[in-house]
Amino acid sequence: MKIVLCIKQVPDTADIKWTENNTIQREGLESIMNPFDTYGLEAAIRIKNNKDNVEIISVTMGPPQAETVIRASLALGADRGFVISDRKFAGADTIATSTTLSGAIKNKIENPDLIICGQFAIDGDTAQTPAMIAQKLGYAQVTYVREIIDISETNVKVKREVEDGIEIVEAELPCVLSMIKPDYKLSRPLINGFKYAQQAEVPYYSMEDIELSAENVGIKGSPTYVSKAFRPEQKQGGEKLKPETIKDTVKIIMENINV
Ligand code: FAD
Repeated sequence: MKIVLCIKQVPDTADIKWTENNTIQREGLESIMNPFDTYGLEAAIRIKNNKDNVEIISVTMGPPQAETVIRASLALGADRGFVISDRKFAGADTIATSTTLSGAIKNKIENPDLIICGQFAIDGDTAQTPAMIAQKLGYAQVTYVREIIDISETNVKVKREVEDGIEIVEAELPCVLSMIKPDYKLSRPLINGFKYAQQAEVPYYSMEDIELSAENVGIKGSPTYVSKAFRPEQKQGGEKLKPETIKDTVKIIMENINV
């Protein structure tokens, strides 16, 4: 079974600044593996720990320094990984990013069974990339996955979060999952993992290597235009009231709302 893990290297968001074009100023920022992708990696490792013949392949699109997140995934349990990197990918929106990622998966990984993504990237935060990958590859997708309960050669059963609780959903493979924070603890890398990650070969693929054309990637393939970027207004702390009856609660609400 082949599990593809899409990992994005993101800036440590505490430091975010904006460019004149309302995109994130990435230069000079500390970078980390997108936290939601660490949940995806853990889910993949758990499958590998319980099944024979599972291969985890991590993929990132980004500048050369994104290799760091591929090596980090190898230290934790991925078997191999590669970086999709080309100056022509610069300025990619979610459409161009998903075209590039799905193109690389199609071109470099034969018959993947499962593609695991994070639900969101903490910088772009659109949650669009996994759905677009699924659509471009013609695979099913399940969002807000908290846990993979079971996986066979043909199906995957997951626990997903919905507004008013938990749903158990089964999908046919191949399928794309978007992961949120699980209830279990994440693994730590072992010393052997660090050694493996250090020595492993991490190939780089360019636009030509994955057989895409310049019109569909990077800024040319990105119809998104960011007109404005702003921080939402911080809400005030509010006041905690503890009315004893429903009648008192209604009275307080009626006294405090402006109608
Ligand atoms: P989401 O859709 O929220 O991510 C969900 C999941 O998808 C992630 O957890 C991960 O599993 C997967 N994923 C997302 N992106 C990647 C990736 N790159 N590699 C592997 N897996 C991934 N960003 C730049 O870095 N450089 C730029 O020059 C740049 N220019 C931009 C120009 C415009 C006009 C716009 C709108 C955005 C630009 N961005 C740029 C941001 C970039 O396009 C988005 O970050 C990217 O498309 C992914 O969207 P997201 O961050 O919302 O990810």
